[in-house]
Amino acid sequence: MAGAKFYSQTTSWCPECRQKVPARIVSADSRVWLEKVCGRHGVDRVLVSEDVPGYERRLAHTRPGLAPLSRFNPGFAGCPESCGLCPEHRQHTCLPVAEITSRCDLGCPVCLKTDGDVYEMTPGEFRRALSRLREYEGEVMLLNLSGGEPTLHPEFGKFVNIARSAGVAQLTVSTNGLRLLNDPALRELFVRGNVVAALQFDGLDDEIYLKLRGRKLLEEKLRLVEIFEAEKLPYSLVAVAARGVNDHALADLADFFFQSEALSLMFQPVALTGRAGSGGAFRTDNRLTLDRAVAEIEKSKHMAPGDMAPIACSHPGCAASAYYFKIGPNRFLSLKDFLGFPQYQKVTSNRSFPGLDLEGHQVIKDRIYESWSSLTSSPGDKEVRARIREFFKSLEGREFTPEQAFETGRDSVKSVFVHGLMDPLSFDFDRLVKCCNHYLQAGGRLVPMCAHNLAKHPGPPA
Ligand code: SF4
Ligand code: SF4
Ligand code: SF4
Ligand SMILES: [Zn+2]
Repeated sequence: MAGAKFYSQTTSWCPECRQKVPARIVSADSRVWLEKVCGRHGVDRVLVSEDVPGYERRLAHTRPGLAPLSRFNPGFAGCPESCGLCPEHRQHTCLPVAEITSRCDLGCPVCLKTDGDVYEMTPGEFRRALSRLREYEGEVMLLNLSGGEPTLHPEFGKFVNIARSAGVAQLTVSTNGLRLLNDPALRELFVRGNVVAALQFDGLDDEIYLKLRGRKLLEEKLRLVEIFEAEKLPYSLVAVAARGVNDHALADLADFFFQSEALSLMFQPVALTGRAGSGGAFRTDNRLTLDRAVAEIEKSKHMAPGDMAPIACSHPGCAASAYYFKIGPNRFLSLKDFLGFPQYQKVTSNRSFPGLDLEGHQVIKDRIYESWSSLTSSPGDKEVRARIREFFKSLEGREFTPEQAFETGRDSVKSVFVHGLMDPLSFDFDRLVKCCNHYLQAGGRLVPMCAHNLAKHPGPPA
């Protein structure tokens, strides 16, 4: 095809026979496609991006991965059968996730699980798995408890205590918030344990909740935000984004986030796996791509086109992020603009919070000194300078325990992410082998999130 481009060769999944098949990433018709070729079922194409130049810019952001200190599996016999991690995996674990229960008090059409999943991790299994994780990673900076609804685990408090005594600097809990809303003692546990509630929050319109969560929930979500802020319970917002449901309202949600005390905002375009893949609520030919989601989010009045960049530790097709310093009420400075892209990439890859480890801190400090001469003396620039100087002065001479770093980051940094999880139709093994988001299993195995979803849930019917 004239004008078509070929980017890379990979392996995917045939939607008919569910076998691994050769695939390639190509551009055609001003779009980027994952094109799979099955010997029995022919060619199948899945949309990757509607923005060819944007996709090519993202590809340029690839950085080499970091090896973990050790791996669960010493040999490789096939991907993803050898998870892991196995010797072929090209990235360590930036975000470990422990699914501690499959119980849930909602039945979201958009859920990545199916009703058949019944599972509960014991605190003992969790403790042992965490100690394996420390063998792989050394320090465990960040850990997420997930489910189901993890707060429904009858021994939830024990998981928090175990994570804390294992030295996890930042513990986050993915939650729909319903139990937190009605249980002050549980909220107190979050506040005391410095646990971040990663609250599902898909938009500011009940029609969105009806379609994604199966019932109206806006009032509950707004009350939760109010309560979290009044009780100083640290929280972040997590939104599923679906084309034709809330893709037109992503910037409104970002505006809400910037006005709130939430630490971060994560968007997850729907992946057609589990109930989301089998329930028929979401169409396979109506995908919200990463580039399209980013373009919608960047319409926020606090953001600018180009603010979001690929997260360099995973494959550039997986995720994008933007970080902002809080300069003053309603003023945010893009860290990427401030540092310039190469330095920004240095401080954000393979890390959970930029600039708060020693190397990242030095990069940012150098840039502040450099900026002294280049900034004008306009009141705006003075304000920026004063705020950044104050921030770094507060860090000066400090021992950087991971906990202090997170505390400091919380008050001064806001971040926005998009995470484009794969499903059996969009599966690209090239992305999988560089995955840095891993499920921590009871026996100490680490399984990249998308591999876990692929193994458990066959996805939409062909
Ligand atoms: S996904 Fe990674 S850890 Fe799992 S089998 Fe493939 S290369 Fe190995
Ligand atoms: S998406 Fe979360 S809250 Fe909704 S049913 Fe699934 S586990 Fe429960
Ligand atoms: S979980 Fe999936 S989308 Fe996310 S980094 Fe891993 S492979 Fe990429
Ligand atoms: Zn096939």
